[in-house]
Amino acid sequence: MRRIGHWINGSIVDSGATELPVFDPATGTQQAVVMAATTAEVRAAVSAARDAYPAWRAASLSRRSEVMFRFRELVDANRKEIAALVSAEHGKTVADALGELARGIENIEFAAGAPALLKGGFTEQASTGVDVYSIRQPLGVVAGITPFNFPAMVPMWMFCTALVAGNTFVLKPSEKDPSVSLLLADLLRQAGTPDGVFNVVQGDRVAVDALLSDVDVDAVSFVGSTPVARYVHETGTQGGKRVQALGGAKNHMVVLPDADVGAAADAAVSAGYGSAGERCMAVSVVVAVGAVADPLVAAIAERIAAIRVGPASDPDAEMGPLITREHRDRVASYLARDGGSVVVDGRSAAAAAGPGFFLGPSLVDNVTTDSGYYTDEIFGPVLSVVRVDSYDEALALVNDNPYGNGTAIFTRDGGAARRFQYDAVCGMVGINVPIPVPVAYYSFGGWKASLFGDLHMYGPAGLDFYTRTKVVTARWPDPATSTVDLGFPKVR
Ligand code: NAD
Repeated sequence: MRRIGHWINGSIVDSGATELPVFDPATGTQQAVVMAATTAEVRAAVSAARDAYPAWRAASLSRRSEVMFRFRELVDANRKEIAALVSAEHGKTVADALGELARGIENIEFAAGAPALLKGGFTEQASTGVDVYSIRQPLGVVAGITPFNFPAMVPMWMFCTALVAGNTFVLKPSEKDPSVSLLLADLLRQAGTPDGVFNVVQGDRVAVDALLSDVDVDAVSFVGSTPVARYVHETGTQGGKRVQALGGAKNHMVVLPDADVGAAADAAVSAGYGSAGERCMAVSVVVAVGAVADPLVAAIAERIAAIRVGPASDPDAEMGPLITREHRDRVASYLARDGGSVVVDGRSAAAAAGPGFFLGPSLVDNVTTDSGYYTDEIFGPVLSVVRVDSYDEALALVNDNPYGNGTAIFTRDGGAARRFQYDAVCGMVGINVPIPVPVAYYSFGGWKASLFGDLHMYGPAGLDFYTRTKVVTARWPDPATSTVDLGFPKVR
């Protein structure tokens, strides 16, 4: 059985208190074991990062930027290999894995150019002969804890910006698809990252708790479900760490009566079922306003019939399996519940797709807002349709929802779209765009229970998170006009 270890101080470390299974979701069989780090292994990784920090911090900005340029070239040259590894352990199609990687690469490119944004401010002559300036300095050791659904991209959201700013890094990837983290670590090494600057510890809650309680960890970036995000934020900040913790979502796509039904249906299908619905920006609820509901539901159902579900090894597959058997069974269990009328039941298509953790795309109409379809983050290919009579009712659903990651509106009315952009209590808004994940030179983050902390992830907000500001007030007396006299103490 293939063994997946940690990456500590530039080498693979194959040890752990326990070994966790890694499945092939397309076949349902175990393909590897991943080591679950003990507190001692986490300590070794953090101390490697701590030891590497002074020299990495002292490396010039151009050197750190050059490492990012080289890393970008290596990731680009290895796109197929990385995508294949993502597909093998996550189950998403190769095209989807390549898409994930493309969004990750944007973050390397942003980091390579980040020195321009790491400039401070300078005020000349704030007082007579006194200048004031601000500089940004790294935090020290940053820990990144990431979810299963984007095993390449989400770590890249974090470590590219953190490293270029001069921090060292310890990544704790999801135990469900851990291999790609080691490939990225090796590419970072080839790009010129010194040993200890980037480390990986595998595992589960034990490893997370060890990172949260380690005094040498200065900051924590987390992405995952809301209960764990809340826990990581509370525990980390209690320990005096800087924490950003991105949580779950229930993204609403509002379709107004004037929308182009075909375009809205295409968007709902790709955003609802892409990556088997296992995206934090997936559309989970279509809010159909007024008379658009009937033609929209019919158009979505028609498109579902054409979706090919299958393993990533099938080049024509458009949707893969879910991550584990337990998760697939939990998602499928919704289809037996009350609270909506099932239009397309994906359980029937599941067996035909293969022996793995498959569930076909499912559509549930007339969903009531007190049902589990609506209240829970299902995180699978079950798309709900809630019917309402007005824009105001649709907006109230978006704004009253405890989550506030992304939302979208489909309309031909620019005024309505502009009003929605103004009104929506949500971190990311799409206008005729179903999954509005910002490009890397903006930043990503939700509101409400979708993010705990103050700063969004990657882009300019990422640089703010991974640096702290120091303000210097300096006085260099002009030898021609003054003598050194700071006023106190007086020399007698
Ligand atoms: P998860 O919360 O189960 O796991 C995330 C990470 O936390 C993993 O590394 C895991 O090992 C660790 N973890 C799990 N349980 C823990 C516990 N009790 N204590 C400490 N650590 C724990 O999430 P997941 O199932 O891997 O990913 C799916 C979730 O992530 C969904 O809720 C999705 O919406 C969310 N997500 C959010 C974003 C975002 O940007 N907001 C992006 C991707 C995924």
